[in-house]
Amino acid sequence: MSEFDLVVVGGGSGGVRAARIAAGHGARVALVEEYRLGGTCVIRGCVPKKLMVYASRFAQEFEEAAGYGWTLEAPRFDWARLKTNRDTEVARLEAIYRSNLLAAGVQIFTGRAHLTDRHSVALSDGTQLQGSHILIATGATPTRAVGIKGHELAMDSNGFFELAALPRRVVVQGAGYIALELACVLQRLGASVRVVLRGQQILRGFDDDVRAHLAQDLVHSGLQLDFGRHVAGITQTDDGLRVELDNGDIAAADCVLRALGRMPNTHGLGLETVGIALDAHGAIPVDAFSQTTVPGIHAVGDVTNRVNLTPMAIREGHAFADTVFGKTPRRVDHTLVPTAVFTTPEVGVVGLSEQAALERHPRLDVYRSTFRPMKATLSGHRGKMLLKLLVDRDTDRLVGFHGVGPDTGEMAQLVGVAMQLQATKSAFDATLAVHPTAAEELVTLRTPTVRHNL
Ligand code: FAD
Ligand code: NDP
Repeated sequence: MSEFDLVVVGGGSGGVRAARIAAGHGARVALVEEYRLGGTCVIRGCVPKKLMVYASRFAQEFEEAAGYGWTLEAPRFDWARLKTNRDTEVARLEAIYRSNLLAAGVQIFTGRAHLTDRHSVALSDGTQLQGSHILIATGATPTRAVGIKGHELAMDSNGFFELAALPRRVVVQGAGYIALELACVLQRLGASVRVVLRGQQILRGFDDDVRAHLAQDLVHSGLQLDFGRHVAGITQTDDGLRVELDNGDIAAADCVLRALGRMPNTHGLGLETVGIALDAHGAIPVDAFSQTTVPGIHAVGDVTNRVNLTPMAIREGHAFADTVFGKTPRRVDHTLVPTAVFTTPEVGVVGLSEQAALERHPRLDVYRSTFRPMKATLSGHRGKMLLKLLVDRDTDRLVGFHGVGPDTGEMAQLVGVAMQLQATKSAFDATLAVHPTAAEELVTLRTPTVRHNL
């Protein structure tokens, strides 16, 4: 039996950060990972996804280059080479995660862990670890929607990263972050992609202008969106997969990708043994300091289903370690969350959607601009950008930023800083433009397009 101040279960974004910071505060730390260090983000999420997004965007760049005087031979794309390069980069990052943990003095254990009591963790190989504190950072897994005939013929986002070749015909079910990001990657790399969504619009929860603008752009770029539809069944045929929709439509596909949300990863963790009850979404309930209902047991990241993004898991893991081992209690703000959807075009957001803002700030001014970015003048690309600021008229404070178009994710990061500093619209107006850029539009929006409750 090995004794530690902290045993971390899960070596992803939240667990690794917590382990390193706790060790830095002098704690004796063990970390258990059953698969690969780095977790979802590094191994089969943000990082390999973004590399695929970069790959997919070259296609449009090649087309646009002609207007700028370039003549290119017909470009050819090699999926196998991209996959090899991507996997090599992921392995490099995984090794860095390992060496950083070891350098911080964290002991790494490989295997599946479960809790046997409030201070004990057992590994699949029989190893027993004792911890004064236990941190559960086991993340989430793709929802297994098994209720249709032939569901086992479909893949989830984990399967996407295993694909050995570019499928030519793809049906994607779902219209959240993952479905749309991966649909765009596949389509821009050359697949014909049909997105089947149950709702009447993509990206539930995002600003309505963003949803409509992006949906229109995606359709113009050749993606087929089947609104208000379900996949009813999948069968194997000599020609690949036969996908039947609930209205009787049939699609032939080489691959069906279902991205229907993610479930907190709690199966077999022994939570019932230690007396932790899950919430209605299957997540571990925690307080503002990531403390569960059982003293000494904490949880961070996707397994708590607060804001399921890597920077939030990292922030929660860091705050937990400072609170418990650094004598500095830290809460994490879950309200102001910059985020990007890496579709092409991409979406950048911070703060409230117009609909949500109106509930809290009825006297709301909306500044909205759609415009053709300068690059498109010679390239001939037809897509327009959308930039939108939401301002509370009484305080002049910015309460939301929304963008669709190139680099809006990068903009969201910086507007996020401004909003963290409680920036006013007057401060945006007083800021000199960087010319010529697309972001300069944000400091030159003079007249509200809508003034609610004037
Ligand atoms: P994870 O990173 O999932 O780590 C949990 C770890 O625990 C895993 O390594 C798992 O193997 C291990 N584990 C689980 N159970 C056990 C056990 N019993 N014993 C031992 N080990 C165990 N977020 C962004 O901010 N930006 C993005 O661009 C982005 N893109 C994404 C793309 C995809 C396809 C996906 C799926 C997710 C994406 N996310 C993105 C979300 C992001 O990956 C997660 O929010 C983040 O990884 C959560 O970190 P975590 O530490 O909570 O869990
Ligand atoms: P999301 O919650 O974003 O989207 C789930 C989608 O599946 C929605 O379109 C939803 O439809 C649909 N859906 C759910 N259940 C069913 C069902 N039974 N039948 C048909 N459709 C269904 O989840 P994702 O899996 O896309 O991503 C999980 C999380 O990972 C994200 O929420 C985000 O936190 C994180 N992530 C972040 C990324 C980033 O930062 N760029 C990238 C990828 C993931 P409806 O809208 O009708 O509810």
